[in-house]
Amino acid sequence: MRLLLMGPPGAGKGTQAAVIAERFAVPAISTGDIFRANVTQQTALGVAAQTYMDAGEYVPDEITNAMVAARLAERDCAGGFLLDGYPRTPQQVVELDSLLELTGVGLDAVVLLDADPDELVSRLLARSEEQGRADDTESVIRRRLEVYAAETGPLADSYAERDLLSRVDGLGTVDEVTERILAALTSMSSQRTATSAP
Ligand code: AMP
Repeated sequence: MRLLLMGPPGAGKGTQAAVIAERFAVPAISTGDIFRANVTQQTALGVAAQTYMDAGEYVPDEITNAMVAARLAERDCAGGFLLDGYPRTPQQVVELDSLLELTGVGLDAVVLLDADPDELVSRLLARSEEQGRADDTESVIRRRLEVYAAETGPLADSYAERDLLSRVDGLGTVDEVTERILAALTSMSSQRTATSAP
């Protein structure tokens, strides 16, 4: 299973990524988590990424793409993976396509987890109280939502054109949303079986 989980900040990608990846026994790869771990350890990658993250901007494509290429080359990704929060720009889509082409495999599905913008802001503000993430202040949250709408939202169309996209409502309990994602994946895979039948 090679799966992408897309969606605006606060839609619940991280939580769902962990559950869905476990269900399919593939690694959940969150570019945000990898960046945060590097910031905490103050590695060269973390130092390069931190200013962008603190401002709610995207880390430049060259840095992000190199990091993802290295991660996907690890052995545990050979049988599949779930990418959470990547790709987020057109150049990242191109990079992922070429990485997959090199290994001769394609994506199985792209799930877009969506929620109302006001709900996203209130969820992120609540998370900032619980987790104290540096980029969960109100002004940075608003900037992250803007950047998502401008740069990442439009990428969904390109995956829809390839018949890979499934939009899922991110509002509800964790279990409800998980069930919706699993149902969407099942329906996509049975549609594909139906269309590929002789
Ligand atoms: P997230 O945990 O997914 O909300 O990501 C936190 C921050 O990490 C983002 O606001 C960006 O600064 C950075 N980041 C994560 N993934 C990417 C990506 N695919 N491209 C560029 N920056 C990213």
